[in-house]
Amino acid sequence: MEQRIRVLLIEDNPGDARLIQELLSEAGLFSLDTVDRLDLGLKSLSQKTPDVLLLDLSLPDSHGFQTFLQVHTHAPMVPLVVLSGLVDESLALEAVRKGAQDYLVKGRVDGQMLSRVMRYAIERKGTEERLKQANERLKKLDELKSNFISAASHELRTPLTAIKGYVAIVLQERVGKLNDQQKEFLGYVKDSTDRLHRLLDDLLDLSRIESGRVEMRMTLTDLNLLLKEEVMIFKVQADNKGILIESEIEPSLKKIYCDADKVREVMDNLISNSIKYTPKNGKIKVSARNEGNRVYIEVRDNGIGIKEEDQMRVFEPFQRINRDETEDEEGVGLGLALVKRIIEAHGGVIEVKSTEGKGSVFAIRLPVEKRGERQG
Ligand code: ADP
Repeated sequence: MEQRIRVLLIEDNPGDARLIQELLSEAGLFSLDTVDRLDLGLKSLSQKTPDVLLLDLSLPDSHGFQTFLQVHTHAPMVPLVVLSGLVDESLALEAVRKGAQDYLVKGRVDGQMLSRVMRYAIERKGTEERLKQANERLKKLDELKSNFISAASHELRTPLTAIKGYVAIVLQERVGKLNDQQKEFLGYVKDSTDRLHRLLDDLLDLSRIESGRVEMRMTLTDLNLLLKEEVMIFKVQADNKGILIESEIEPSLKKIYCDADKVREVMDNLISNSIKYTPKNGKIKVSARNEGNRVYIEVRDNGIGIKEEDQMRVFEPFQRINRDETEDEEGVGLGLALVKRIIEAHGGVIEVKSTEGKGSVFAIRLPVEKRGERQG
């Protein structure tokens, strides 16, 4: 025989209570306890857990949404169906939004409906709980992954530092003369260790930012200056590739509260990407202007562009696109992931607009106001 579903009804109107009782006994399969006050309901909940709870929101000792809140806080795991009148249906909906499984409008209930709603509430609560648990497991796994990446990069850096140090000593011929080939080969070792070092730094940064462990040093910053300096820094690199780089910065650009080093890192990444992914004789433009209480910054190039379907992925870690055309470009696809997280830690947003073969625009919006400090 199927087990009876135990229902606790908290309802002070004797007429309504009797009706529910009759409907339930008609449907069979249910056993019912009824109390007519909130305090009695809470007491009953402490003593034994029903399979489902039917709750009238207006009781002698509690009214409206408060009634729901008290019961839900007291017994968050119990499936809950709110009984509402026609006039307070919106209240019942609000309760559903905040954790009740369903609601019934009094006077519009028949036995079949009541029985279906209660079974559904039990099922739905079960599904919600399972989802919640699955979600928590995922969060834990994600945390574990971040911790692992952070610990691994940290541990790998120590021996790498030693390798770099000794390679430098040998390369400087402080422990004996090298022939040309030895010098050449050690040069390759040095380049590779430098790359590895940069990679580990990026990985560490990313995992730190993801876990909110990065301290943002927010200061009032003149972006006008910062952006012009950034463009200057990349001039030589662009020239070498025959790329024109220029800036157009609104002179009255507002100063903003930000971590200037981090914003530099963002610009380094965006501009060096533009140079990487723009062929000879291309053009790059860095511009900035005020936009309400935000500052708008963009890096625009007329390079190879990014396919529409790849555009969402570029901000995810380890995503590299267009591998064929840019086979020889160094990188592991962490730059833009880092960029996005830095911008978001400032309360800002970044987006990409791009047309394959025509070029890309990376657009940033940063709030002028003092924000993002909660990260620090
Ligand atoms: P990396 O440059 O190390 O591969 P990023 O995270 O900086 O990693 O960039 C991810 C991918 O986005 C790159 O591999 C490239 O395919 C694409 N991308 C980034 N910037 C541009 C750009 N300005 N033009 C075209 N493609 C770009």
